[in-house]
Parts: sequence; structure tokens; C-alpha cells
Amino acid sequence: MAGTFSLRIVSPEGNVLKEDVEFAVIPGELGELGILPNHAPLIAGMDIGVLRYNLNGAVKRVAVAGGFVEVIENSAIVLADTAELSEDIDVARAQEARERAKKRLSTRTNEIDVRRAEYALRRAAARIEASVGKK
Ligand code: ATP
Repeated sequence: MAGTFSLRIVSPEGNVLKEDVEFAVIPGELGELGILPNHAPLIAGMDIGVLRYNLNGAVKRVAVAGGFVEVIENSAIVLADTAELSEDIDVARAQEARERAKKRLSTRTNEIDVRRAEYALRRAAARIEASVGKK
């Protein structure tokens, strides 16, 4: 179809998404990557964050945490360490994870624990943000 490209998201759990979309904004390690049809080929690392894409005029959200994206021949393939569609996100679980991480960060521990808690906090925040507007 003209004006779209194939967006595929795969995680170790399996296939998360395969849709023809109009655009996608992907949280890259070096900043957000805006992808439109016929984008130039690229490979980039991904950050923890919210991937957005447009389908039939609606913006959809997916929480992702690390991995890679490859854009080639009018398709974007996201290999994510974890990825959840907004409708599959357990918001209460993410809120609990956020509280646990905040508590850990408020009690001074060693550097590795701080780093782990910071990542856990960012994953939880991305899930909460991606769940906004979920059906
Ligand atoms: P938690 O402490 O709640 O387990 P976490 O950030 O440590 O959160 P991860 O290790 O990133 O969890 O993910 C483990 C698995 O659980 C992955 O398959 C991920 O997709 C899934 N997952 C994690 N949190 C949620 C959530 N809030 N809703 C749905 N799936 C989730």
C-alpha cells in the first residue's frame, strides 16, 4: 500500500506486532528516530521508552526496553529485549515496580544497585506512559 511501511516488533517472548503503518517514532539510544515510508536503511540501538506508530489515523503505543531496530526495504524490524502493546500492559504491576525502584533509590546502596533501580524505574515509567489511552 502506498504511504505505509511494514513495522514488525519481536521480543524473546515472540511476535509482538506486524502491521503496515504510516509512521513510527522509535526511542533510539541517541534520540528518537522518526520513520516514514521509504526511509533510508539504518541499524540503531534502542533505549528504554515508548515506541509510537500511526495506524488508520490513530496513534498506538508500545513499551520497549532495549534492543535494536533495522530499517530496510520499506520495513522496520524491532528486536526488543522486552516489548508490550499498550493493551497488554498490567498498569498495577508497573506502578508497583515503580514504587519498588523509587524505594530502592531512596535508600543509598551500592552503585550497581542504583543503576539497576534506575533502569527498573525507567522501564516502569515507559510502561505507564505507553498504557495511556489503552482500550
Ligand atoms: P517487574 O518487576 O514487574 O517484573 P521488570 O521491569 O523487572 O518488572 P522485565 O524484566 O523488564 O520486568 O520483564 C519481564 C517480562 O515481564 C517481560 O516479558 C515483560 O514484557 C513482562 N512485563 C514486565 N512488566 C510488565 C507489565 N507491567 N505489564 C505486562 N508485561 C510486563
